[in-house]
Amino acid sequence: MAPPNSKPFLCDNCIECCANVPVTAKEMQAIEGAIRAMPQEQIDRLQAQKRKDGACPLVDVENKRCAVYEARPWICRLFGYMEQMQCPYNTHIEILPFAEGQKKFMTELGVRSPEDLQAVGVLGQDITWESLVLR
Ligand code: SF4
Ligand code: SF4
Repeated sequence: MAPPNSKPFLCDNCIECCANVPVTAKEMQAIEGAIRAMPQEQIDRLQAQKRKDGACPLVDVENKRCAVYEARPWICRLFGYMEQMQCPYNTHIEILPFAEGQKKFMTELGVRSPEDLQAVGVLGQDITWESLVLR
């Protein structure tokens, strides 16, 4: 018989979790680099998309995907696998305690101190296309 948590994580790209994501200075740099590398037409297309209140400006609503996937913040990477950030459609997944998830992120991305995790803004709140383009 299969163990209880053997069912894989199934993300159907509903993009509901792409909202109100705090970002650190280092993550913001990576995001800005990814935006600078985009063709202007893509920026224009993303900027023109209609989003719900609080939705991340980097979610490509039309294609239901993250427009900066390789540069996405740690919260986006750990969403669904960590305490306080469980995907409502994948409640069968075993989640990490918050402190453990944070430690995993710090190790994987080379964050040296908890201060490096200080948010400089929140995607979908104070970080919008207006603020990104005008930077
Ligand atoms: S992780 Fe969950 S909430 Fe986020 S897009 Fe996938 S199914 Fe939707
Ligand atoms: S950065 Fe990407 S994965 Fe993270 S909330 Fe925005 S669109 Fe979603």
